[in-house]
Amino acid sequence: MPNPLKKAKRNAPGKYYVDRTLCTMCQVCVSMGEGYFDIDWDEETAYVTSQPDGKFGEMAVREAMLSCPENAIGDDGEDVEKIRREFNE
Ligand code: SF4
Repeated sequence: MPNPLKKAKRNAPGKYYVDRTLCTMCQVCVSMGEGYFDIDWDEETAYVTSQPDGKFGEMAVREAMLSCPENAIGDDGEDVEKIRREFNE
């Protein structure tokens, strides 16, 4: 199960993220995610390049999420960011 505390460093802030400890860089998300995913070769993980801003983007990201063989893509990233912001305020 993806853990939002283990998000890829280059992941765009927001709901969707790649758990860098689960990703095997198979690139399925890059081919299915229509530009929303890329590989960070230095960190050795995929990451979400930008959060989807419409229905079709959301569908592409969810499709990639369901296709990830490692279940490394999560959609609860926003919750952790909210908690972090509250603690830092
Ligand atoms: S599909 Fe999953 S395991 Fe493959 S590169 Fe994307 S996030 Fe990593």
